[in-house]
Amino acid sequence: MPSAEIGIFGGSGFYSLMPGFEEVEIQTPYGAPSDTLAIGEVNGRRVAFMARHNRAHTIPPHKINYRANLWAFKSLGITRVLAPCAAGSLKPYVQPGHFVVCDQFIDRTRGREDTFFDGPDVAHVSTADPYCPELRALAVKSGTAAGLTMHPTGTMVVIEGPRFSTRAESAFHSSQGWTAVSMTQYPEVVLARELEMCFAGIALITDYDSGIEEAAPVSAAEVIRVFGESNDKLRRLLISLVAEIPAERSCSCGTALTGARLSYTTEPEE
Ligand SMILES: [Zn+2]
Repeated sequence: MPSAEIGIFGGSGFYSLMPGFEEVEIQTPYGAPSDTLAIGEVNGRRVAFMARHNRAHTIPPHKINYRANLWAFKSLGITRVLAPCAAGSLKPYVQPGHFVVCDQFIDRTRGREDTFFDGPDVAHVSTADPYCPELRALAVKSGTAAGLTMHPTGTMVVIEGPRFSTRAESAFHSSQGWTAVSMTQYPEVVLARELEMCFAGIALITDYDSGIEEAAPVSAAEVIRVFGESNDKLRRLLISLVAEIPAERSCSCGTALTGARLSYTTEPEE
């Protein structure tokens, strides 16, 4: 079984980076992940890439097997997950081409499989601070050094999709003070936390959602166009971020389950 330290949910823009990467097919107790994983070295670090929508982009956000994807990363020995995603801005000052490093989320998805603790093993993991503070700081540092506009905090509202928001929904999300909207951060981030992996949500802003600015409402074509234009920025950010991540963790993500288990199947904590 191959191993890796860092897992990246990367789209088609990244596969060109990986000549000579090993393609690995992984099965999990939760079924098959979105795609085979491409494993190799980036900046001297063992990295595994996975296309969360599959490389052929055949899996919509609400049909992604999030548990299998995160379990596959964990089974390779991965302790850090970098999760770029496309997002719509809910704030005038957060412009297309900017990056938001999320520190909070709001879950407005429906019925997604969002826990590994379905019983009999029961745990209530804290998600007060769901994103890894160490990775967040390093992401901001790497992006800023690469000349990118980085927003160091932001609340991501995650909608069920696959449709985009109505004008009323978008105005509501904005009025709540939330920063950006996307469809995949939940439950990715909490599943990583349940597996005690660090998680960084790095959102590339592709549009102004449905009418926050005078721009036309978001369309899939516009998201694809801006994301494609910014793919090079995202690639630079991730490559330098991978090199910045220290071998040992100084955060508390690795002990997220300490004190979280309640079931009788687990020995009491000391
Ligand atoms: Zn961490």
